[in-house]
Amino acid sequence: MAEHEPLTPLSAPQKEMLEEAVSTYQAHTTAEAAAYLMARGIGREEAMAFRLGVVADPSPGHERFRGMLAIPYLGRDGQPLTVRFRCLVKHNHRDYFHGKYNTITEDTPRMFNVGAVHRADDEIHVCEGELDAITLTKLGLPAVAIPGASMWFGRHRRMLAGFSRVWTWADPDDAGAELTNKITRGLRTAKAVRLKADVNDTYLTHGADHILSLFSSRKDTETAA
Ligand SMILES: [Zn+2]
Repeated sequence: MAEHEPLTPLSAPQKEMLEEAVSTYQAHTTAEAAAYLMARGIGREEAMAFRLGVVADPSPGHERFRGMLAIPYLGRDGQPLTVRFRCLVKHNHRDYFHGKYNTITEDTPRMFNVGAVHRADDEIHVCEGELDAITLTKLGLPAVAIPGASMWFGRHRRMLAGFSRVWTWADPDDAGAELTNKITRGLRTAKAVRLKADVNDTYLTHGADHILSLFSSRKDTETAA
């Protein structure tokens, strides 16, 4: 997709289909999925707020995501705009013709938790993983996710252009560096948070206070002055 290609709005039937799919997946949370989320510090409250679920009864076109964790990309009013799927089985995903994370074919790449853009004050946080954005949200930070450099588009840059500070929390690996580079090249207000592991692992290992100490808010500086 071209950098400047406008985002095509979903049709009414598409919206209805997605709403029905996500509602069904939410109703079918399994003990395995709940355990997976709990192990990452994501409890019932976050799972409900982000409408996480399990593909026990796939909607048409979602058959190949059966059994996976459904991670809806919600609009500002909580309506699903797309869904990504995370395989919870510990195996070589490629042997089963899917990835660890899976996207609906030919779907428009979107920003995860776009509602945070509308709710945020003058600073916003950009993660690489959806579960990382959920973790920061749980800590009270307005956070979106861009799941990889190839998912970063000009319209995403424009959506974040009004913030005085855009903190980026990409993984400490080559793919994360590529995402950080793309965002910091596009936005002068962007500043990378240095991580030794992904946000969720860092939170689980070192706790909330450590996460909050990794970036220094401009507001805090002003208050201290
Ligand atoms: Zn798999």
